[in-house]
Amino acid sequence: MKFQLYNYYHPNNIIKLIRSFCIQFILLITIGCNSEQNRETMAMPPDEPESFPKLTERNRLLGDLLPERTCYDVKHYMINMDIDVDKKYIKGFVDISASAEENFTSLQFDLARKMKLNGVYYLDQNLKTARKKDAVFVEFPDVKKGDNFTFRIEYEGRPLEAKRPPWDGGFVWEKDKKGRPYVSVACEGDGAGLWWPLKDHIADEPDDGATMTFTVPEELFCVSNGRLLDISSDIKNKKKSYTWSVNNPINNYNISVQLGHYVSVLDTINRNGQTDTLNHYVLDYHEEVARNHFKQAKKVIHFFEKYFGDYQWWDDGYKLVEVSYLGMEHQSAVTYGNNWDNWRGTRSWTSKYYGIVDGLLFHETAHEWWGNSITAIDPAHMWIHEGMAVYSEAMFIEDQLGYNVMVDFLLDKRKGIRNKLPIVGPRNQNYWAFGDSYIKGAWIMHTLRHVIDDDQIWFNILKSFAVDNAKGHVSTEDFLNYVINHTGYNYQIIFYQYFYTHKPPTLEYYQDGTQFFYLWDAVSGFNMPIDINVNGVERRIVPTKDVQEIEISEFSVIRVRDWEFLMILKNNPDLIKKDAS
Ligand SMILES: [Zn+2]
Repeated sequence: MKFQLYNYYHPNNIIKLIRSFCIQFILLITIGCNSEQNRETMAMPPDEPESFPKLTERNRLLGDLLPERTCYDVKHYMINMDIDVDKKYIKGFVDISASAEENFTSLQFDLARKMKLNGVYYLDQNLKTARKKDAVFVEFPDVKKGDNFTFRIEYEGRPLEAKRPPWDGGFVWEKDKKGRPYVSVACEGDGAGLWWPLKDHIADEPDDGATMTFTVPEELFCVSNGRLLDISSDIKNKKKSYTWSVNNPINNYNISVQLGHYVSVLDTINRNGQTDTLNHYVLDYHEEVARNHFKQAKKVIHFFEKYFGDYQWWDDGYKLVEVSYLGMEHQSAVTYGNNWDNWRGTRSWTSKYYGIVDGLLFHETAHEWWGNSITAIDPAHMWIHEGMAVYSEAMFIEDQLGYNVMVDFLLDKRKGIRNKLPIVGPRNQNYWAFGDSYIKGAWIMHTLRHVIDDDQIWFNILKSFAVDNAKGHVSTEDFLNYVINHTGYNYQIIFYQYFYTHKPPTLEYYQDGTQFFYLWDAVSGFNMPIDINVNGVERRIVPTKDVQEIEISEFSVIRVRDWEFLMILKNNPDLIKKDAS
């Protein structure tokens, strides 16, 4: 989802930014143009990382895979709900089809406490339930391992309203420019259980997809994921029912509904010698701008198929759906609200794509590969969605505008790295490790590329990882093993430093006469190679914890290539003493 940089541009932060800029400017004119590198870099990490949020019972129930959840594997969701727009109220049922992975007599599903549970039915029995926070435990008659079974959950209520979508999830009850209802929902991180009952863990996607039937006021058009199967009218009650269906596994938070005065905008894409259709939905008064602006989606899809393999959901289609919030990666129904402008999107920073693409359209489409097809096994590894989406942006810029522009893009982004927490968070706690996963995640990929120093191997790693794990779940360790297998080099300590501690490594260096001293201040055993320029000639060094030195000619101009490697630079005259000791 979601570019997370929002807070960075919060008005208070802008004041802070202006203040810090003024201070830097004064410092600059006071001390002159010091050649010290890395001035424009990320925030310096504190000595100790900040704490991860405290584990609550709700986190454990939602985030862990306890026996009441591992005892069944969801095959299909059939969602059927009536949406009362005036009352902001929903009522309906969900049929969960699953296979029993173990013999069991009790299972857990998830539904927000705010919603009223009307009953759980299995084989014509109304089953006994007990609630704990947002989890519901159901007593089943004995179900045997290997059984396929379907049970129905009836419920209703006024779902949570999103305060700041897509960052804070919930229903978005908006009006369009003509004052007509314009409704959507976003729930990544908050959980789909805020509006429908399910097994709400990222690791269990319904293998056979989902069917969604929404009954809505007749004047509104309803858009959901996948293909539209049916529209039926209830003239007496002035309602219409829309049935949409996806045939593929889908992340729970990707299932969505949008209501509005939508029209469809058809487009076609030629790929691998065949023609596929794109079927976007936008508000009626945006039909013409969408027809033109959304043409770029084809270029974006071609890019992703070239670098990361086929789009996985052609049978469910690809579409962009206009919404009132910024956007979300809802699978096969990517939502869009970025102002129809490649340079000046809704958020100012989405202009940092040099006009070649709508950054929001690109980012959310990136998740069709990184997130929706290749999914993190636990939200603690969210960088696999977000870091790879941002790194894909850099790759697209390089593909279109060349290497140096890509570096410029990443250097600008680098200022947003906070370094307060490790990127990979605690597992099994429903901890959605957003934070630095976006930019630092991308910067780690950029760093690895230069450590490996062989573009053919590097881009082959990324593509084969994406292709081999399409429609699958992966962890940070899976990616590490992939890199090790493709390079024959053990990157474990490098991964540990970057993903599991809050600090990037610090390169301490000092130039003295004909000597250049250097060492890593990093985790034990860290020996990542980096490149430096000595009088304009690139040279690889392999710093370790111990001070090393190279011979140089006097007054050599040395540049540590920190535009290729994520690190903190520290000029340290004490290295001479350390070397002597
Ligand atoms: Zn994202």
